[in-house]
Amino acid sequence: MMTLREMIEESKKIVFFGGAGVSTESGIPDFRSEDGLYRQKYDVSPETMLSSDYFYSHTEEFYRFYRDKMLPLQAEPNAAHKKLAQWEREGKLLAVVTQNIDGLHQKAGSKRVYELHGSVHRNTCLKCGKKFSAEYIARGEGISRCECGGVIKPDVVQREIPSPHATVNGAVRAIGQADMLIVAGTSLTVYPAAGFVDYFHGKYLVLINRDATPLDGRCDLVLHEKVGKVLGEL
Ligand code: NAD
Repeated sequence: MMTLREMIEESKKIVFFGGAGVSTESGIPDFRSEDGLYRQKYDVSPETMLSSDYFYSHTEEFYRFYRDKMLPLQAEPNAAHKKLAQWEREGKLLAVVTQNIDGLHQKAGSKRVYELHGSVHRNTCLKCGKKFSAEYIARGEGISRCECGGVIKPDVVQREIPSPHATVNGAVRAIGQADMLIVAGTSLTVYPAAGFVDYFHGKYLVLINRDATPLDGRCDLVLHEKVGKVLGEL
């Protein structure tokens, strides 16, 4: 059986599809692992708190959870983020498609990143449209507001709202062109993102995930390991 290293050496158009598990080695908890946010005690689930309905109906509670758990601006890219940025520079990697909102791929130097669930780095005043940085949101207290008085909405609360067309199209096109797809750090339970794997028609489908996923049986190689450790050792 081929090793991951051999598959990567042979491939010229790698796409990486990742989730929260890609950033746990940077100290950001995921949702469903043992130490994930689901196991911590909240009255409603983290995903409900990140929904659009919750944002509009419980704006203050949303902001409390969001600043507390979803704005780790001090976090640094780990070996996985760095290796992917290196492959892009070397012309081996077409794109990163991510469900993460933390911006760590860009911080590591990746340029072509499709963020299916938005980013903490985009924040917009609902009244006048002015844009704000994640640092501005982190510094605030209570509900973040614009100088015009409008409420600021981070571009991450959109479980029931489809991702922008350009993001989805770019992600699907990249996956469709890939000769190798590495899926990592995702429980593959959040749709429609999890269905993106179906657009892959290339040669090697690889999964690097600590726990088993519904995709394991379809893969050419499955590594139940830490993605930062695996990519860092390549
Ligand atoms: P998830 O919590 O459902 O699943 C994470 C998966 O990653 C688990 O299967 C776990 O076994 C695995 N994992 C954890 N650490 C790992 C590691 N070091 N190496 C390999 N695998 C590891 O996450 P999801 O599928 O991405 O879905 C959750 C949703 O929550 C997503 O929409 C995401 O946007 C959001 N979220 C984002 C962040 C972030 O931006 N960093 C953090 C938490 C949640």
